[in-house]
Amino acid sequence: MHISARARSIPPSGLMRFFDLLQSMEGVLSLGIGEPDVKAPSPICRAGVERVQTGRLGYTSNAGLIALRQAIAADLESRHGASYDPDTEILVTVGVSEALHVAMLVCLDPGDELLFPEPCFVAYSPCVRLSDAIPVAVPSQAADGWRVSVGAVRERITPRSRALLINSPNNPTGAVIDRSTLQSLGNLALEHDLLIISDEIYDRYVYGVEHTCFATLPEMRSRTLLLGGFSKAYAMTGWRVGYACGPLDLIAEMKKVHQYIIMSAPTMGQIGALAALSADTDLSQPIVKEFAQRRQLVLAALEEMGLLHMPPLGAIYAFPSIQETGLSSQEFAERLLLEEKVAVVPGSAFGASGEGYVRLAYTQPLDLLTEALGRMKAFVQRC
Ligand code: PMP
Repeated sequence: MHISARARSIPPSGLMRFFDLLQSMEGVLSLGIGEPDVKAPSPICRAGVERVQTGRLGYTSNAGLIALRQAIAADLESRHGASYDPDTEILVTVGVSEALHVAMLVCLDPGDELLFPEPCFVAYSPCVRLSDAIPVAVPSQAADGWRVSVGAVRERITPRSRALLINSPNNPTGAVIDRSTLQSLGNLALEHDLLIISDEIYDRYVYGVEHTCFATLPEMRSRTLLLGGFSKAYAMTGWRVGYACGPLDLIAEMKKVHQYIIMSAPTMGQIGALAALSADTDLSQPIVKEFAQRRQLVLAALEEMGLLHMPPLGAIYAFPSIQETGLSSQEFAERLLLEEKVAVVPGSAFGASGEGYVRLAYTQPLDLLTEALGRMKAFVQRC
């Protein structure tokens, strides 16, 4: 059977081998998977169930339910002051995953380059390759708080550069890019005519700092594709709903591609997402609050272990250095799993610049998190 060079060009995710191992073991406390462990709030679940019971789960409009697009527009306006026309500037997608993929199919020709800071979400580079384009990773450093260096991006710009993909708050480092760095990246985009794809899936998860919605920076709206979703904010990973917002022309092209590969995002998911945004209270707030508490616990424990160098300001992760143990990040994660039954992810899974670090997702309730951190401390002390 012929397998395309395109498919062969992408490696299996660095997480896969690790999760296979994890699944074969019992009693593991996992801080590995990047999804909230809490339940989706009940108004969301009720709305989904009620809709299923009506049996009316046909396709929606290709762009997504208009009521949901209106709710997304209102939410972005109220939280960030970003205004999008629900009729023409918002596309509801199958999570941010699909939005990323469609964005790249629309914005990149074969041989074009897309720049992105690393360490980063594991799908970025393969997604670029699947569009026959070239991923250009820009390493960032712990010493800079994992903030992308504008100079490092500039050095890698070529005549084939088309877009810069940023992710703040960041998976896996938890870094939040400050407003002035974002503005400098924007100036670079203006200078070199780059599109900014801004993956803001963790926008609600910020601790003591402000999230800046990239599209609201001066002159940026017309060259920004804003990506967001429901997976993390409302613990709705399996409902598969996200969105892309941007200039009309770009969204029209994305809608065309989305229509041919997806048709429409899952109807039950869209109903759940609509319920999430229609509630009287902010349903994401208790979830974010819970993660903020867990973060405190994680930071205190890492400090005790002597591993905390840079407290993460956002997302649901810590990304401590494990260099002092003398182990590679892969060895650290494997031994921690086998010896203490605690799963974390090797930093190298998120790009070469993640080597020497591991990612901890705060995805256990406080008591189990305490237990997992205790086991990790025992392991570190033995190293
Ligand atoms: N972007 C980032 C930075 C992520 O961490 C994730 C999920 N881990 C996604 C996008 C994809 O999320 P989803 O498809 O569930 O919306």
